Amino acid sequence: MNYAIETSGLSKFYGDVHAVDAVDLRVGVGEIYGFLGLNGAGKTTTIRVLLGMIAPSAGSACLLEQAVGPDGRGPWARVGHLVESPSAYPDLTTRENLEISRRLHGMADAGAVSRVIEQLSLSPYADRKAGTLSMGNLQRLGLARALLHRPELLILDEPANGLDPAGVVEIRELLAGLAREGVTILMSSHILTEVDRLATRIGIIHQGRLIEELDADTMEELRAQRLMVQARDLSAAQTALTAAGYSAELDRARESLVIKDARAIAAPDEVARLLVEAGTAPTRLGVEQENLEEHFLRLTGVLK
Ligand code: ATP
Repeated sequence: MNYAIETSGLSKFYGDVHAVDAVDLRVGVGEIYGFLGLNGAGKTTTIRVLLGMIAPSAGSACLLEQAVGPDGRGPWARVGHLVESPSAYPDLTTRENLEISRRLHGMADAGAVSRVIEQLSLSPYADRKAGTLSMGNLQRLGLARALLHRPELLILDEPANGLDPAGVVEIRELLAGLAREGVTILMSSHILTEVDRLATRIGIIHQGRLIEELDADTMEELRAQRLMVQARDLSAAQTALTAAGYSAELDRARESLVIKDARAIAAPDEVARLLVEAGTAPTRLGVEQENLEEHFLRLTGVLK
């Protein structure tokens, strides 16, 4: 597999603070990787190291199979980025700001600026001074700058920052479209729902460490509903349910049977009737779904 991003033992320490602690990150070409963590988890620091903006204390990073070096080495012409609050020349217009970026990239394509202005719905603000833009539109300008040179890899720190709900959806669709064209995206967020539907994989960072990675199947599994059944004699209940064709698994920790069959979730009363008839009436029966948000909050210790 070709990796668009690959780090090995990547660390950044500020005195006693382990902002990033031995992170091994692998993002495959074409993936949308959601980098999720609470405030202060280490997302921005990781991204800054990835982009060569700060030197790591230990470990290394490769982007598009090229090492990121302390001397500014890296495949920067093929990478677009947005890190923290985007800055712009306040006295220049949106268009002028993007023109400067175009020249810095050495791009001959003069239509590129108009293209990204359109792409980010910035046309009504093209001739406004950047200093007068709202936070959401300034964020769009930052994204426009990241996309201007049609990068293969996008590294975006909290891209939804400051956007209104319609803007969040719009940017999500824009990013999904780019991914369909083959662009690899790493985007950070502290809000799960922002990356949930978009990401093909989610990495959870907590206190500088990458504590879990969820692939699409695991995310789907966590979204899936299940029927939790408790009874005084779980083994008798399991036998009765299995005989009736349900796949009832024992969850010892929760002293419950877990049934994932769609028909059980659609008609839990049928399951209850069956158990009563088998002489092992349920003491508790409930459809539940551990949503991803709860999973994330439990992992990071916010929820007990
Ligand atoms: P947020 O969602 O709030 O932006 P984050 O996940 O991006 O958070 P970072 O900004 O990477 O978190 O910070 C990680 C840790 O490193 C925090 O404890 C932060 O205080 C610390 N840190 C970051 N930069 C520095 C610095 N220049 N000097 C000292 N500590 C720093």
